[in-house]
Amino acid sequence: MRFLNLTRRVEIGANCYSLETAGKRIVLDCGMHPRLEGTEGLPEIEALEDDSVDAILLSHAHQDHIGSIPVLMRRQSRAPLFATDATRQIGDVMLHNSVNVMMRMREEKGIASYPMFTHREVEGVIKRCQPVPLRQRWSFDGERLGAREEAPLSFEFFDAGHILGSAGVLIRSEGRSFFYTGDVNFTDQTIARGARFPEEPLDVLLMETTRGDSPLPAGFSRACEEARFGEAIRQALERGGAVLIPVFALGKTQELLAMFASMQARGVLPPGVPVYIGGLSTKLTELYDKLACQSPRQHPELPLLEAVAPFVVGGPDLDSLPIKGGRIYAFTSGMMTENTLSNIFASRFISDPANSLFFVGYADPASPGGVIRTGQPGDLIQLDSRRPAQKRECALDVFDFSAHASRESIRAWVNQVKPKKIVLSHGDPAAIDWFRDTLSTDLPGSEVIVPTPGEAVEL
Ligand SMILES: [Zn+2]
Ligand SMILES: [Zn+2]
Repeated sequence: MRFLNLTRRVEIGANCYSLETAGKRIVLDCGMHPRLEGTEGLPEIEALEDDSVDAILLSHAHQDHIGSIPVLMRRQSRAPLFATDATRQIGDVMLHNSVNVMMRMREEKGIASYPMFTHREVEGVIKRCQPVPLRQRWSFDGERLGAREEAPLSFEFFDAGHILGSAGVLIRSEGRSFFYTGDVNFTDQTIARGARFPEEPLDVLLMETTRGDSPLPAGFSRACEEARFGEAIRQALERGGAVLIPVFALGKTQELLAMFASMQARGVLPPGVPVYIGGLSTKLTELYDKLACQSPRQHPELPLLEAVAPFVVGGPDLDSLPIKGGRIYAFTSGMMTENTLSNIFASRFISDPANSLFFVGYADPASPGGVIRTGQPGDLIQLDSRRPAQKRECALDVFDFSAHASRESIRAWVNQVKPKKIVLSHGDPAAIDWFRDTLSTDLPGSEVIVPTPGEAVEL
């Protein structure tokens, strides 16, 4: 097996990997960098000759895993694309939204390479995408294989518990196994249930390391964190302030809505508390509701939009949206990236000490969200490079509802499946270092590899 890391740096960026095995070249994911703009945000797909890829597999529909797929498929016109049905449907919404965002950025910032693909190309990608159910063996020609059927090369998706549709993929090639985790979470979230990954020994593992640099605090439990979060919102609203929660449109918004429904049912939050979300979040929540009974999740009987009845805010309405006490604003992006609802709204929000800003997920340390959450009250915050910095006077707290597995839970699973070779990816350098040191000690017979971007590794 020959492996090539096509992500440009050791980081959580534009995830993309190539695997050559049994005479085929397979590409796993093709994301776009959440922070870098223009062609800098693409993976190194020019390292693959045109029309040299035999198949493309997608782990899930977050931007850092699918964002550059139309660019890759333009160059790899004969490669079929495989994903779970939920990833295909969510990907449809995410990629069309991405075209709109790029067109706006071309206008506002003059980025000449935007949009990198068109709505028509997205339609082509979705047409070429073959939905594949979890826990079934498939050939790369798109044929379903029997459980015991001999095949030199096959793949199988396993529920990754990260967001709706997320999957790890097991590639069986000439008697060896290669497993790619994608983004994984082993514990139950409010909506997503914990991953169901293979439990038998693996030959090669390509794994995410997102949380490698942060141990779980002693005594941490999701239930306690949710109770702390509910209490913080209740107090903030009772004080007469408003609450802003920067969230990802996909995954975290739906987790949050499910938590709000439960908090209202238990009397933690007043019934009918006004919740505001963006248009993309609403479209994705509609898909969560539509696919509730077809995909593994908790509370399939809970229609999120009906239970919380959020108000939908479009980009043009944002400037005139009043900030009123007693309301919850859950806007994208989770990292408060420039030109997003949460960033624009924050410019009118963070200097008022009556308000509360709550973070509930990952933020790149260099993003506005990453900077503000590690700072102090009174810090000057540069939300937008075109506007002056402003003081953060609002209350701030950080809650851990990560959709990524704790390093402890990944470590336990890796010790169970004992891969002979472990390839570390999807993590900042400190996170990768922890996993390299820990897994090398846990499994002295295994080789732990940090693949240099652009350099092929024989596995
Ligand atoms: Zn993800
Ligand atoms: Zn990711």
